Amino acid sequence: MTPHLPQHKRYSMTTIKLHNSKSRVKEAFIPLDENNVRIYLCGPTVYDRAHIGNARNVIMFDVLYRLLRHEYGADHVTYVRNFTDVDDKINARAAATGRSIRDITDETIGWYHADMDALGNLRPDHEPRATEYIAEMITMTEDLIAKGHAYAAEGHVLFDVRSFPAYGQLSGRSVDDMIAGARVEVAPYKRDPMDFVLWKPSDAETPGWDSPWGRGRPGWHIECSAMSEALLGPSFDIHGGGTDLQFPHHENELAQSCCANPAEGFASVWLHNEMLQVEGKKMSKSLGNFFTVRDLLDQGIPGEVIRFVFLQTHYRKTMDWTAEKVAQAEATLSDFKSLVFHVEATTVDPKVIEAIANDLNTSQAITELHRLVGNGQAGELKASLLFLGFDLESIESWWGVPVAHTPKDGENLIALIIRQRDIEKRNKNWPEADRLRDALIAAGVIIHDQKHRGTQFEVSREFDASKLQGVL
Ligand code: AMP
Ligand code: ZN
Repeated sequence: MTPHLPQHKRYSMTTIKLHNSKSRVKEAFIPLDENNVRIYLCGPTVYDRAHIGNARNVIMFDVLYRLLRHEYGADHVTYVRNFTDVDDKINARAAATGRSIRDITDETIGWYHADMDALGNLRPDHEPRATEYIAEMITMTEDLIAKGHAYAAEGHVLFDVRSFPAYGQLSGRSVDDMIAGARVEVAPYKRDPMDFVLWKPSDAETPGWDSPWGRGRPGWHIECSAMSEALLGPSFDIHGGGTDLQFPHHENELAQSCCANPAEGFASVWLHNEMLQVEGKKMSKSLGNFFTVRDLLDQGIPGEVIRFVFLQTHYRKTMDWTAEKVAQAEATLSDFKSLVFHVEATTVDPKVIEAIANDLNTSQAITELHRLVGNGQAGELKASLLFLGFDLESIESWWGVPVAHTPKDGENLIALIIRQRDIEKRNKNWPEADRLRDALIAAGVIIHDQKHRGTQFEVSREFDASKLQGVL
């Protein structure tokens, strides 16, 4: 042990490397405080079900969160993900349906939790709602005006981008390039077309809060600056979102927070995931290839199969969602599960951790899982699957085995025979697959083949385990 370093609670000494969008290189990750590693993910605007694209950064951050908890200890990581519950899309939904905003946002948050839980994601430590932090947003806006970085005009408050020479550093563009390339809203009250809204006026029908600039509501970007500062402090470790958020949302968050706290750096590392497409095309309602996480779950695709499909592609690569990938993921997971059935989890394989520590290389981690299968390391395989967020309960229940039940004699063998039959079916070795099925039926096992849930079984009253001896 190095005598000069303060004692801390790190469990292991894996070097974590992350691709920092701000520096544009992969860097060794050094937390500001090893006893409290702090991460922030921009969360959803809550007016509708999450689509599968929305799940991508949640899964990316969940893998990161699990890695950090593993390395620094579960009590030494703080994960914040906000709910944007003040937004014109929510107002429009309320006006169209006659429902209250609170009703819509509460219901959507409930859906979001259910859907993200089903994909094996841990809940963040804090999930602030924007409407609970309006006072902090007003204070930060006042502070930006006082420091000469923002100005009030016609009930609006605007951030003055020309007052912050580093504006554009995150997206790597100059202000002039951005004006040329972006669809900026020109308004008479703006000093510069790039200036963006910190506060805007609300009419009588629109939600609003009293402020020094009249009744109004915050702009979107100020939300994350105010909430991250309130819950993580003016500097924290990792900030993430999709590449579509890098500009303008993250650029604007960075500008606001650095101007409000000039001695601080805001987020040290920025992680941006690439977008998800469907069957090679941009997902869109008009192409009919738009679906929600709930649509997939309702089709009977288990959440962990969806998760597995995501983990097969590194977060910095564009990802294509295909039915073929779902089928393959289902087959692979089914193989993995049959191996870990009733096996005690041992230790997470070091190469799996190494892969995740290498800029969240989840596809490499899956390659390592296949190696564990090849070596027959079932205990390590199970521990590694758990580490990657494939939860044990559904691993066991997927095969129709009640979770909280002690297996009857012979059930282990049934599972192995079903697994072997799956392998024979996949190899189109029908006579052997049929022989195994007939043997199960003869022993009193009732089998249900389900497209997306694999084969489930029940044990009938006539079940006779001795009839299964010698079948394999
Ligand atoms: P939105 O639904 O546009 O409010 O986006 C919420 C989050 O989902 C943001 O972090 C986006 O980066 C992310 N997101 C939206 N569409 C996609 C997509 N097709 N692929 C990956 N991430 C997406
Ligand atoms: Zn944000």
